[in-house]
Amino acid sequence: MTIEILQTGKLLASCEAALAERYTVHKLHEQPDPHAWLQQNGARIRAHAGSGVSADLMASLPNLEIIAGFGVGYDNIDTKAAKARNIRVTNTPNVLNDAVAELTIGLMIALARRIPQGDQFVRQGKWLQGNFGLFNELTGKTVGIVGLGRIGKEIATRAQAMKMRVVYHGRKRQPAEPHVFYEDLVEMARDSDWLVLIVPGGKGTDGLVSRQVLEALGPQGMLVNVGRGTLVDEAAMLDLLRHGGLGGAALDVFENEPNVPEAFFKLDNVVLSPHQGSATGQTRDAMGRLLVANLDAHFAGEPLLSAVV
Ligand code: NDP
Repeated sequence: MTIEILQTGKLLASCEAALAERYTVHKLHEQPDPHAWLQQNGARIRAHAGSGVSADLMASLPNLEIIAGFGVGYDNIDTKAAKARNIRVTNTPNVLNDAVAELTIGLMIALARRIPQGDQFVRQGKWLQGNFGLFNELTGKTVGIVGLGRIGKEIATRAQAMKMRVVYHGRKRQPAEPHVFYEDLVEMARDSDWLVLIVPGGKGTDGLVSRQVLEALGPQGMLVNVGRGTLVDEAAMLDLLRHGGLGGAALDVFENEPNVPEAFFKLDNVVLSPHQGSATGQTRDAMGRLLVANLDAHFAGEPLLSAVV
């Protein structure tokens, strides 16, 4: 008899195909009455494939052994509840570092040079009436990276290739890194032209980038958020962007995705992106392969490839 696993949302087609080859996959999101289905069948489920797992869902799966998340962030998996029941949790780190770092640099250039606005300018025939304008460049500027982790380091490498000076903030100094470390985020914001956020979401980082941090970044300062929407005081950011207190923002993540406050749509000094840091075919395939490899390792009694719990 094959192992029965649960999906509660759609996964990448290649990942779903690989899972179906190995396991009996149940798709809760396709059940007409998910609650009733769980009551009848929950006890047979040994693994969950994909992120977004609450303590309540775990409670309805009494024999759950492992949650194999899709993505490096696992703020939407209740790891505390998992730990309490010895349920293992895996994520998909590293394989997405390059894609996210590439998007970050892309967003920075897009914001500095107003690339999306320039595209609109041409399409709307406004070029016929005059030139577009003069904007900014990355060269020679200081970028403060908030979270010099796996992805943060890839962003740092690319930022240096853009001839930027890199500094960073985290909970601790990393002695092996050549960049200047700031223990105080407000101080780093004050000394930086750009602030790039690439720390995990969750309780520990909620509101890390407060109004005070944004004000320290200042009227010429540029904020890039590729971490999580919860990191930033979104209302304060909007207010400052509107009234010249913050120079600009390039945002791949939002507080309440996919609902983005309409106030952003009216602003010229923002570039908006639909949480697509890792969204390339090659990276998503690699993430799917890692998810499946973690499940395979678990059920073969081998060490997990990327365990978070
Ligand atoms: P890592 O764990 O490798 O790095 C996280 C970094 O954040 C570490 O350097 C850590 O440094 C720092 N950090 C953690 N907590 C805090 C804190 N409270 N205050 C300050 N710094 C902190 O993670 P990854 O680089 O692999 O991924 C980072 C995050 O990026 C993910 O968790 C996810 O939220 C986001 N992400 C977004 C994507 C997108 O599509 N936009 C795609 C992929 C990831 P220290 O321990 O010294 O504090």
